[in-house]
Amino acid sequence: MISFLKRIAFLSSTILLIYACNDVKNNVTFDASFKGGRLDSVLFLKNNSYRLLINPAFEPVNKSPYFAFSVTSSTPETINVVLDYGKYKHRYIPKLSTDKKNWRSIETKNISMDTMSGNANLKLHISSQKLFVAAQEIEASDDTYLWVDKMIAKHPKIKKTVTGKTVLKKGNYCLVFESDTIQHTIVLVARQHPPEIPGGTFSFKAFFEELFADTDIAKEFRNSFNIYTFPLLNPDGADLGNWRHNANGVDLNRDWMDFTQPETQMVKNVVEEKVSTGKKIQFAIDFHTSYNGPYLLILDSINEIKTKKIIPDWINNIESKSKFKVEARRRSQELPYCYNYFINAFGCEAVTYEEGDEVDRQLIKERAKAYALNLMKTMLTKLKNNEL
Ligand SMILES: [Zn+2]
Repeated sequence: MISFLKRIAFLSSTILLIYACNDVKNNVTFDASFKGGRLDSVLFLKNNSYRLLINPAFEPVNKSPYFAFSVTSSTPETINVVLDYGKYKHRYIPKLSTDKKNWRSIETKNISMDTMSGNANLKLHISSQKLFVAAQEIEASDDTYLWVDKMIAKHPKIKKTVTGKTVLKKGNYCLVFESDTIQHTIVLVARQHPPEIPGGTFSFKAFFEELFADTDIAKEFRNSFNIYTFPLLNPDGADLGNWRHNANGVDLNRDWMDFTQPETQMVKNVVEEKVSTGKKIQFAIDFHTSYNGPYLLILDSINEIKTKKIIPDWINNIESKSKFKVEARRRSQELPYCYNYFINAFGCEAVTYEEGDEVDRQLIKERAKAYALNLMKTMLTKLKNNEL
C-alpha cells in the first residue's frame, strides 16, 4: 500500500480535465489546465515527493500513457515525482520545457523505472518559472493552426476550409490546394491519435513543407497535383490530452469502415465530393507514431499487383536517392484503417506513415522531407509516362 500524508486536490470537468494543486507547505503547484494537458490527480507523499496519477480518458485503450503538466515552486528546489499510470506501464521519455517551444528529454540520471509497477520516478529541478513536463512535445490545436496560418501566409492558394465539426462542435479543417484544370490528387491525414506527435505532427509538417517548398520539383508537383490535407483530424482529443480517442471515446483509426464519428465522416464527405467533381485520388498518406517505428504500412501483396506501383517505386527512390532505408509492413486491406479506406474506396494507393516515439527530431524531419521529395519525383515520373 502507498502511504501518503494527504491528498491535495482534484478537480475535473467534462470538457477539459482541469487540475490545479497547491502544496501550501512547499509552495509547489502542479497544473494541467492548458490545452493538451493530462494529469488526473496528485498525492503529496513526503520529503518533496509527489505521486502523479495519470489515467486514460477512455478504455479499452492501447498502451499510450500520455501525460502533460506544468510544475512551479516559489523557491528553487528539487522534487521527486512518481508517474503512476495505474494498470498501465511507462512508455514515453519525459520531455521538459519552460516555454512549450524548446524541449529536451529528461537527463538519464533523473529518471528511473520501476519495472514491476510500471511507474517512472523523476527528479525535477523546479522554480518560480513554469516547468512543463510531457510525454511528447505539447502540440494542441492552437499550435497546429498557428503553423497552418504561417503556411497560408506563404501560399495564399491554400484555402483553410471548415469542412466539418468535431464531437465537441468545433470547426474541423481541410487545407484545400487545387486547380479547376487538374484532376490528379493526393490526400494527407494527420494526428488521429493525440500523443503521436513525432509522426502525426513533426513528420506531417515537414512533409507538407517539402511539398510547398520553393524548389523546381515542388513547384512542378503543385502545378500537376491537387493536395487535400487534414492537418489535425482529432483536435478534441489533442486538446483533452487523450491517450488515443476522440471526444466520444472512439479510436478514429478503427472507424474507416463504419464512419460513426464526425471526424472520419468529414474526410469521407470531402474526398467523395471532390471525386464527384472529377478529381482523381492517386495517393494518400496517414501520419502516426509507434513504439517501434519508423515504418510504413503498405498494401498486401495481392492488392499491390493491381496498382500503378507508386509505393514500390517510391520506396526504391527513397532508398537509392537518400540515406534512408524503408521498413515496409504489409497489412490486410480489410482492416478499418484510414489508408485502407482510400485503397478500397478509390482503388488508389495509400500508406500509414509511422515514426518512432523517441527518434531524433531532426532525423524525423529529414526523413519526412526525403520521403516527400521522392514521392513527388515518383509521381511526376509516372505522370510523364502516362502511368497514372
Ligand atoms: Zn496512430
